[in-house]
Amino acid sequence: MADRTFRIASLPGDGIGPEVVREGLRVLHAAGRMHGAGFEVREHAAGAAEYLRGGDPMPEAVFEDAAACDAILLGAMGLPEVRVPGGTEIAPQLDLRDRLELYAGVRPLYLYNAQHTPLKGRGAGSIDFVIVRENTEGLFSTRKQKVEEGAQQVGDTMLVTRAASERLFRAAFELARRRRKHVTLVDKANVLPSMAFFRRVFDETAERYADVETRRLYVDAASLLLVRRPEDFDVVVTENMFGDILSDLGAALVGGRGVAPSGDIGEKHAVFQPSHGSAPDIAGRGIANPAATILSVAMMLEWLPDERCRAAAESVRGAVRRALANDSAATPDLGGKATTEEMGAAVLRELEAMR
Ligand code: ATP
Repeated sequence: MADRTFRIASLPGDGIGPEVVREGLRVLHAAGRMHGAGFEVREHAAGAAEYLRGGDPMPEAVFEDAAACDAILLGAMGLPEVRVPGGTEIAPQLDLRDRLELYAGVRPLYLYNAQHTPLKGRGAGSIDFVIVRENTEGLFSTRKQKVEEGAQQVGDTMLVTRAASERLFRAAFELARRRRKHVTLVDKANVLPSMAFFRRVFDETAERYADVETRRLYVDAASLLLVRRPEDFDVVVTENMFGDILSDLGAALVGGRGVAPSGDIGEKHAVFQPSHGSAPDIAGRGIANPAATILSVAMMLEWLPDERCRAAAESVRGAVRRALANDSAATPDLGGKATTEEMGAAVLRELEAMR
């Protein structure tokens, strides 16, 4: 097969974003070279610093160029002191989700090293589940509402539509078919009518996937069981806000946000980024953990419609697995002393050793 070049938009963003994306791109190019896939990386400024500079965190020309690429790799966006009128942080990554209809937030959580979990008696590989989060509506649906100065009451709406739920559930079931064929629905159907509707649509979709086992949990019970028996979960599908919260709980089980990748995936576009934010407290110190970004690169490679990229994804995941099994590659968030660059180099060495 002749080499093929893919166009990747890189939006490193703020804080530690550029530091971790640098390592992600080193690994992307190395894995591509191993498997005959080339990458033209188009880097753009976007995020809080760009908002301060030009008044727009995601200039239209950047959006258009990113949308025209084969995939988008994002570092982190937002800084606590940079707020829009209304008081919330700038979040162009959420706008990307809306505008590109990236309806499924896919967050794999995998325990690479027994030292990384606060749970007792769990070895590497014993925690291995994926949260599929609805990305376009739910309790985030009114996030852009204008609040009157001096308002005495502000409400947010849990919006659930049949169309968004069906496409989400289909994505979860399709993913489960490529894994251990088990889907857990997480909702609050006992209290909220929107969630009872969500469950009804889930039940209807499940009928079309008879080969996949299902379970339904309320979000409170799910939080307890994820801590007590994480090994019982394979694919977890849920509403936007619940998914936001449970993703962090899940990350805590496997070593924190520094090892939790994510992909926001639609029919035509996808954005891959670490689950963490811009971590301003450690930015510029060279100690951020790049594993979540490197694993996001693996997800991106897996998603690109090409066998060479899929093989490269497998290699990257294997290299991260081996690098993280070794305590000397651990960054401070994992209890080690390695720098961002050293962890990246450890993954590259493992890749090299696979040749
Ligand atoms: P957001 O609102 O975007 O979720 P946040 O400020 O709540 O952002 P993070 O920026 O992810 O959260 O930071 C939370 C904590 O986790 C910080 O103490 C940060 O240093 C730490 N952290 C986040 N990502 C990493 C990483 N890649 N490596 C090491 N520590 C990290």
